[in-house]
Amino acid sequence: MNFNVIIIGGGAAGISAALWCDELNLTSLLLEAQNELGGQLLRVYNAIKNHLGIEAESGRELRDRFLKQTENYNFTIRLEAKVSEVDSENKTVSLINGEKISATAIIIATGVRRRKLNVEGEEIFKDKGILESGKRDQHLVKNKNVLVVGGGDAAFENALILAETARKVTLVHRRKDFRARKEFIEKVQGNPKIDVLSETILTKIIGANRVEAAALKSLKTSRINVLPIDAILIRIGVEPNTEILRGKLDLDENGYVKINSRCETSVKGVFAVGDVANPISPTVSSAVGMGATAAKAIFAELNPQQSL
Ligand SMILES: Cc1cc2nc3c(=O)[nH]c(=O)nc-3n(C[C@H](O)[C@H](O)[C@H](O)COP(=O)(O)OP(=O)(O)OC[C@H]3O[C@@H](n4cnc5c(N)ncnc54)[C@H](O)[C@@H]3O)c2cc1C
Repeated sequence: MNFNVIIIGGGAAGISAALWCDELNLTSLLLEAQNELGGQLLRVYNAIKNHLGIEAESGRELRDRFLKQTENYNFTIRLEAKVSEVDSENKTVSLINGEKISATAIIIATGVRRRKLNVEGEEIFKDKGILESGKRDQHLVKNKNVLVVGGGDAAFENALILAETARKVTLVHRRKDFRARKEFIEKVQGNPKIDVLSETILTKIIGANRVEAAALKSLKTSRINVLPIDAILIRIGVEPNTEILRGKLDLDENGYVKINSRCETSVKGVFAVGDVANPISPTVSSAVGMGATAAKAIFAELNPQQSL
C-alpha cells in the first residue's frame, strides 16, 4: 500500500498527526518501535490535570482515551516497527527487519528518552533496586534508604515523594547549583529525612543480586565514599531519539530536530513534531498541536489550490 505520510513514533505527537492526516484525507502509516502506542505517557504515573478538556489519573489513562477517540479514524498502525534508517531526500524509511517503505512526506515524532548515567550496575540492577518512578515505587521503599541522582525538578520532586515512605533519602548532584524550581529546593532542604550532596557523582552501583550500596565521589575532594542504600532513582534529564537522523537533516547542538513554524525540518517534505523538536513546553498539548500543524502543512503542500 502507498501512503501519503509515514509517521515515525506513536506517542501523543504521532497519534495526533495520524488523526489529523485522516481528518484531511491523507493516508498515513504510524510506525511505533514498542509493542503499544503511548510513548512517555506510559511512564507517567501521576495524574495529568493540565491537558485542556481531559483530566486523567495517569498517562496510561490519557493514552487509552486517545486510542478510544482514534477508533473513529482511519490510519494504519504498525507496532514493534522500529525505524533504523531515514532517507530524508527520497522519503523512505527502513525498518530493523530490512523492509523499506516510501511516502510523499515523513513526520518524525520519536520523542525523548531518559538520560542514563552509564555507570557500572545501572543495567543489571534494573528492577532490582533501581526504581522506575517515585510515585509508582513509593511503597517499595518503606523504611528503606534511597539515593536520588539529579538536580532538576524531577529529581527534587521524586525525592520528596520517596521521603514520604523511605527512612532516608540522599540526593546527589554533580553541580554546586540546582536547576529545580525554588519551591522544590526549599521543601527538600527543609525535610529532615533528605540529605543533599552537591558536587558529588555516583560512580558505581554495588550489590550481589540487588542494589546494596552506591559509590559516591566528591568532585571537591575526589574522595570516594560507599553509602549503603536499598534503592536508586536516576533523574538526570532526557535526550532526543534522533540517532537515525544524524547527517540526514539539521539537528541542534543537543541533538533535537530543528523546525520552522510549520514543523518542517531542513529537508522539504520531512516534518518533526512533539518533544523531539525541542518545544518550549514539552507537554501533551504541544505534542498534539504540533501533530496537527504538520498534517495541515503537508495537506497544504499537496493541495496548493485548496485553502484550509
Ligand atoms: C513523568 C512525566 C510526567 C509528565 N507530566 C506531564 C503533564 O502533567 N502534562 C503534560 O502535558 N505533559 C507531561 N509530560 C510530558 C509529556 O508526556 C510529553 O511531552 C509527551 O508525551 C511527548 O509526546 P511525543 O509524542 O512527542 O514523544 P514520546 O511520548 O516520547 O513518544 C515517542 C515515541 O516514538 C517511538 N520511537 C522512538 N524512536 C523510534 C523509532 N526509531 N522507530 C519507531 N518508533 C520510535 C517511541 O517508542 C515512543 O513511543 C510528562 C512526562 C513525564 C516523563
